[in-house]
Amino acid sequence: MIGSGKWHAEQAWLGRRAENVLIEVEGGRIKSVEEDVFAPADAVALKGWTIPGLANAHSHAFQRLLRGEVESGAGDFWAWRERMYGFADWTPADYFKHARLVFREMLEAGITAVGEFHYLHGHGNELGEALIDAAAQEGIRITLIDACYLRGGLDGRELEPEQLPFSDGDADAWARRVDDLSDGDGVRIAAAIHSVRAVDPESMRVVATWARERQAPLHIHLAEQAGEVDECVAVEGCTPAQLLEREGILGPDLTAVHAIHLDERDVGLLGANHVTVCACATTERDLGDNVGPLQALARSGCALAVGSDSNAVVDMLEEARGLDLDQRRALGRRVLHQPVDLLRAATADGMRALGWEAGELKAGMLADFITLDQSRGLWREMTPSYIVYGMSARDVTNVVVGGVTVVSK
Ligand SMILES: [Zn+2]
Repeated sequence: MIGSGKWHAEQAWLGRRAENVLIEVEGGRIKSVEEDVFAPADAVALKGWTIPGLANAHSHAFQRLLRGEVESGAGDFWAWRERMYGFADWTPADYFKHARLVFREMLEAGITAVGEFHYLHGHGNELGEALIDAAAQEGIRITLIDACYLRGGLDGRELEPEQLPFSDGDADAWARRVDDLSDGDGVRIAAAIHSVRAVDPESMRVVATWARERQAPLHIHLAEQAGEVDECVAVEGCTPAQLLEREGILGPDLTAVHAIHLDERDVGLLGANHVTVCACATTERDLGDNVGPLQALARSGCALAVGSDSNAVVDMLEEARGLDLDQRRALGRRVLHQPVDLLRAATADGMRALGWEAGELKAGMLADFITLDQSRGLWREMTPSYIVYGMSARDVTNVVVGGVTVVSK
């Protein structure tokens, strides 16, 4: 994904609305952005609204197989998890094929970078490499967020048989395995502590140190379920967020996924440490998760990002508006976040959480941009509000990753 060329956008989002924008790309990065200029003969014309590429900050590609498969019967998050484990067994060749389909769907939805929170380690690095190869084949940027997963719960209980392939045995073995993976064109290796359930405090510190020595992003599933908080309080004497504070894990390089069951002190800690919080509205709805205090987190200093998580839905604009709409139902109020902030969650802040210099249309940034258009629509002035609340993945007509066109409808 190291392309060059010129694109001329009818309207583009440069942090504000601009018209007749010429984007020049060299070596995969934006060289210049000029507005109010005529299209040169050698520029690709982009009709509609051109915005930075969307960042999917939290995905488990394999879970797309559950789409439409787990919506009958009954149960809670833990029952869903049992059924999800039934879809976790892959050969590298099959996972490569599956991931190509998932990544193609993401590109067509305008996602130019995906964070794969990866804990299927039964074949060593082979399934992670299958994800990397599939991303390269389809032309999407990937941050492989390799997750350490060591135990069945906070009380130190053993892994269930279905969880055994997720484990490396100990954190040092995890680090040795991940050291065999390397960054490349369109590829970043990052680290995750799967959750406070699955990783003991000492091992958490090993994972965080590994990430910080390499300046790699660090992610964690945090407080998605009340049961995790109760168990943490019982065993560690504090909440999961406070445990992370105690162990030195909180920081601006950390992305906390879900972050739903938080008390006021947790919110203050995450905000003061400028942790990014990744909300996954469509999956959280599907799983019967509660709604997190996202407005309070944003106000206390957290950046926000969004993720498709289980991939039952692949639409980052739906995730962005869902972040606000779900809180409206929980709080009985409207507009908890401004549309421009939701758009930034789906672009610049998500890209930063994945370790990419992208998400803004300006010189020096990676040349990831997408175009949205509505054939049935009239020409109208672009607003962040209409992008987030009036458009969806289906309206994406053109996608450029690193100056290479990967979707053109
Ligand atoms: Zn997840």
